[in-house]
Amino acid sequence: MARMKGKIALVTGAAMGMGKSHAELLAKEGATVIMTDIDDKKGEKVAAGIKKKGGKASYYHLDVRDEKEWKSLIGEITKKHKRLDTLVNNAGILILKPVDQTSTSEWDQIFDINVKGTFFGIKHSLPALKKSKAASIVNISSIYGLIGAPSAAAYEASKGAVRLLTKATAIDYAPHNIRVNSVHPGVIDTPMTKDLLSDPDVKQAVMGTTILDRPAKPQEISNAVLFLASDEASFMTGSEMVVDGGYTSQ
Ligand code: NDP
Repeated sequence: MARMKGKIALVTGAAMGMGKSHAELLAKEGATVIMTDIDDKKGEKVAAGIKKKGGKASYYHLDVRDEKEWKSLIGEITKKHKRLDTLVNNAGILILKPVDQTSTSEWDQIFDINVKGTFFGIKHSLPALKKSKAASIVNISSIYGLIGAPSAAAYEASKGAVRLLTKATAIDYAPHNIRVNSVHPGVIDTPMTKDLLSDPDVKQAVMGTTILDRPAKPQEISNAVLFLASDEASFMTGSEMVVDGGYTSQ
């Protein structure tokens, strides 16, 4: 299996959770993966694990809020690989609060990482993506970029913004053979949801209407990321891939 053979792929927030899983699967399928995160120790460890299994991966520090770090990383990638084929804007944070309890700094924090981080990723990767013959951007949104839920106002607003930023950029960069799609995971078992899923009552509330009645494993989302990143999705752009165990079906 080498569905990503020859492709250069960049994944943000790749030290743990779904980002780690995306990086591992893309590498398993033949991509040269550039992993980035703010947790350098964990990130280096994941990259070493991929290499140990025969994959191609390297780790770089990247705080997605930092425009200078984006510019310098894309400069290095272009110098080394001449182009970028895949960008997975995965890094994100969750703050669970209704609007009246959300401080301005919490609002800014969530928008800086989830939305501005995605904007910087797209903006600064574009010159390198334009050098690819078939580029793909995969933006990780959420089911909460599609529907509402209690006590997650800033998060939902940020993931809704990622959904439409995806469509806007799909339109603008189609002439450059750059496809842009969003993935909308439901409830996934990662460090982000660990505390929520370890309390049975909270878990039941968080699971909501998930008709498959379990949280997903990170790889179940990575499978969708892999498809959108690969040339198998060559006629998909501006679309939303929902991977939620049926949560939003009723
Ligand atoms: P995790 O919290 O498990 O992992 C997120 C990773 O992103 C961590 O390594 C984290 O580092 C890193 N990160 C945080 N802030 C930054 C930053 N400023 N710059 C770079 N990296 C950063 O999250 P998940 O794997 O669960 O989530 C991945 C994506 O999927 C997110 O966008 C999330 O919103 C989305 N999502 C998650 C769902 C879920 O149920 N888990 C459901 C739907 C969507 P550190 O921990 O050191 O801060």
